[in-house]
Amino acid sequence: MDAFVEPLPEKPSEPDDVLKMLDELGSPATMGIAGARFFGFVIGGSVPAALAANWLATAWDQNAGLFLATPISAVLEEVATDWLIDALKLPAGCGSAFVTGATVANFTALAAARHAVLARAGWDVEARGLFGAPEIQVVVSDEAHPSVIKSLGMLGLGRDRVVRVPTDGQGRMIAERMPELRAPSIVCLQVGNVNTGAFDPAVEICRRAKAAGAWVHVDGAFGIWAAVCPELAHLVEGCELADSWATDAHKWLNVPYDSGLAFVRDAVDLRGAMSMSAPYLPQGAHREPLMHVPELSRRARGVDVWAAMKSLGREGLAELVSRNCACARRFADGLRAAGHEILNEVVLNQVLVAFGDAERTRAVIAALQEDGTCWAGPTVWQGRTAMRISVSSWATTEADVDRSLEAMLRVAAL
Ligand SMILES: *Cc1c(COP(=O)(O)O)cnc(C)c1O
Repeated sequence: MDAFVEPLPEKPSEPDDVLKMLDELGSPATMGIAGARFFGFVIGGSVPAALAANWLATAWDQNAGLFLATPISAVLEEVATDWLIDALKLPAGCGSAFVTGATVANFTALAAARHAVLARAGWDVEARGLFGAPEIQVVVSDEAHPSVIKSLGMLGLGRDRVVRVPTDGQGRMIAERMPELRAPSIVCLQVGNVNTGAFDPAVEICRRAKAAGAWVHVDGAFGIWAAVCPELAHLVEGCELADSWATDAHKWLNVPYDSGLAFVRDAVDLRGAMSMSAPYLPQGAHREPLMHVPELSRRARGVDVWAAMKSLGREGLAELVSRNCACARRFADGLRAAGHEILNEVVLNQVLVAFGDAERTRAVIAALQEDGTCWAGPTVWQGRTAMRISVSSWATTEADVDRSLEAMLRVAAL
């Protein structure tokens, strides 16, 4: 990679040579994230149709801010929104935002939440900011994803002033330990813990929150996709009662980066937070993308999302999620049978395995990464160092699991 570190070239280069250099020197320095045996970070690969659609949309070079500027990008966002609402069992008519990932999806949805709870308290936060505004009570669990905390910080709601509710041994919020809620308030629940895959008890949390007039936001970066599988749908029961949802398309939907999605029950709240206008940006009667997201100019993300859903269909999507979860159980069974300790209940696609103490576990992970058959990374779960296996690629088969298991057991026996 050293060849890339050079002063700004004085002279132009031939495009072919630029690409040749990038491929010959750059490609070997990439990570096989798109591969069938990459089990790091819950990030999936790209289904072929979505990857190719992404290339085509990039060649189109559409600026997806306005319907007028690019009808196809705007229409595909509308179509994909309806499909997503159907597949993820969200309330009909939700507003949607096509953003970079779940971090910005959390930010966008929580901006809508901030808008709505303060509007109900008679305060226009977009116009007046938070100076002198009624205080918003914000409730999260101890296991809230750091992107939720960061989003709250960016929204002026504070990273540290939030109320943190304790969680159980799987990382699920203990609903009985929620504080007494008083409006204006926002409760953030999580479906799909990034370590264990566990789901907060949405029915009970929503019941308490709704009774107190709180806004409920769901961080479902990958877990909400359980809704597409009949046998897993019970895990997200209650989520449909929430007011906003954040998820990723570049994780379990297997589209290229960057692609996240926010949904808001009442699109008016989303537009309340994200609207902008200028005489040079004429808006028509259609859904205008720029009214729903933080950005103005951006790529046509809806194209890849549409292509993934069109190519998979309802059945393909269910099969993908179902197969990934079966693969996770296969990992857990194989590791347990060999005497290794599984630290979580394998309810979804996540497996946490310890190979003894922290030092030993770290050594096994390093040896596995060196071996190269597959890739998994470390984490610390409730004080225990573990290897974290996330199965979320369309390409992963049982045979990949067996080959990876063989490598894991082999290096763990050294
Ligand atoms: C991955 C993840 C995020 C952040 O998503 P990005 O796409 O990386 O921004 C947020 N919440 C949860 C639960 C996640 O797993």
